[in-house]
Amino acid sequence: MQKEYSGKPVFSGIAIGKISIYHKKESVVKREKIDDAEAEIKRYHAASDEAKKQLGELHDKALKEVGEANAAVFEVHQMMLDDLDYQESVENIIRTQGVNAEFAVATTGDNFSEMFANMDDEYMRGRAADVKDISNRVVGILNGAGAGGFTATEPSILVADDLAPSETVQLDKSLVLSFVTKGGSTNSHTAILARTMNIPALIGVDFNEEGLEGRLGIVDGYEGKFIIDPDEDVLTSYKEKKAEEDEKRRLLQELKGKPNITKDGHEINVYANIGSVKDIADVLTNDAGGIGLFRSEFLYLGCDDYPSEEDQFRAYKTVAENMAGKKVIIRTLDIGADKQVDYFHLDHEDNPAMGFRAIRICLKRPEIFKTQLRALYRASFYGNISIMFPMIISVDEVRKIKEIIKEVKAELDEEKLPYKDCELGIMVETPAAVWMSEELAKEVDFFSIGTNDLTQYTLACDRQNAKLEDFADSHHPAVLREIEYTIKNGHKGGAWVGICGELGADTSLTETFLRMGVDELSVSPSRVLAVRDAIRNTDLSVGQ
Ligand code: PEP
Ligand code: MG
Repeated sequence: MQKEYSGKPVFSGIAIGKISIYHKKESVVKREKIDDAEAEIKRYHAASDEAKKQLGELHDKALKEVGEANAAVFEVHQMMLDDLDYQESVENIIRTQGVNAEFAVATTGDNFSEMFANMDDEYMRGRAADVKDISNRVVGILNGAGAGGFTATEPSILVADDLAPSETVQLDKSLVLSFVTKGGSTNSHTAILARTMNIPALIGVDFNEEGLEGRLGIVDGYEGKFIIDPDEDVLTSYKEKKAEEDEKRRLLQELKGKPNITKDGHEINVYANIGSVKDIADVLTNDAGGIGLFRSEFLYLGCDDYPSEEDQFRAYKTVAENMAGKKVIIRTLDIGADKQVDYFHLDHEDNPAMGFRAIRICLKRPEIFKTQLRALYRASFYGNISIMFPMIISVDEVRKIKEIIKEVKAELDEEKLPYKDCELGIMVETPAAVWMSEELAKEVDFFSIGTNDLTQYTLACDRQNAKLEDFADSHHPAVLREIEYTIKNGHKGGAWVGICGELGADTSLTETFLRMGVDELSVSPSRVLAVRDAIRNTDLSVGQ
């Protein structure tokens, strides 16, 4: 029988397909007393063997898809499972405490990870996340959850409690038709990913996941409906709606190659936001004029250890080359808050959105920052790269950044490595940056207004908190006034000003932004043509 749930749409569109549940990889481990320690130890070894088998399969898959260097991690994981100290620790905990294998493995994983994290050697510190990872895998096998994740084999509607950025980054995107989550918020990274992928997504859906796997579902990203086992007539009507939608998308394609110009001749740039090198194809098919925001932290989220200068250089160079001279604005890493990476070993914080994140980490750990800057400058030689810094609150920070850049350039000169002088910009995403915008504009070439964080900090509404959906209103006059003020001051100080937060793609505000004098809007690739359409339908000479 048909069942319907409602939720908040974060990207419109219709999806029809099988439902597949995303299982969290980390499960809560309970400590349980057992009677037969030897049988429990046997159970542990069987799970460990199964984990090694899975890792072998992953290794072979990675070898084919991403090459030997990236596949090697799975061999390291297999070796860790064979480590005698690790095995002895698990067995000892089971025997001496008389507890279940899940608890013994999880405890061993925590202890070893802590031990690695406190070592002096950087390579060994990096192994802390690996040992946690293998322990999670074994625990998952022991408690029957498998290795977790998304197991769909055909394009499906992904249903989950919530998704962390580190989880979305590992998804096989070609298998996702839509996202439906219980948690989440409009500006969460899952929502941003849905917009990048041009697929409908609903958040705050209170579904009961029992028995949902494999059933037919419809996601209506216009009305915020999630329908399970649709009746025949409902299915037919949604198939028709989907065909109309495909036709509308086809019509927008006709705007390709046309300028982003208003009826009265005012032209601006429309660029695209990306999270990975793979998104370039979407940027090009949607005819964006450049990349206005490359969220470089996704390179860090996608691996188990700090990406090397070489790895980063290759990624940035590929983007620059593929964009063939068009502007590519790369934002330095914005780790912290909702984007956590184990190997950074960041302390737990009560208030991570206001915590040690983004540029603050870079300024306190310059070795990480310098590696990224070296990679960026080296890649700059191959295209038109601009560099942008997140979470700025003061002029002093920008000056410190410029000092570090000077050192990086001096190193490259000495090593005779070629680079270009990149345009430098900052994200204006804190109220402090807004109010200091006149001074900041004199220090940089451009501003890019991050309305996602600016809304959260201005309205004191955590962007991750689903309960605040009715309060975290990006259209709030306070946010709009800050945008206007920033554009005005940016221009006064000689900087051009764009918007790269999600609000930039909101076509109900395109005219407002144009009237404020915005120079660039950077939006999800799938929104480029819709924004172009809105610009071309605006006449600034009317209704002044
Ligand atoms: C923003 O804060 O508006 C922004 C574009 O950056 P992110 O969403 O990655 O924080
Ligand atoms: Mg931000």
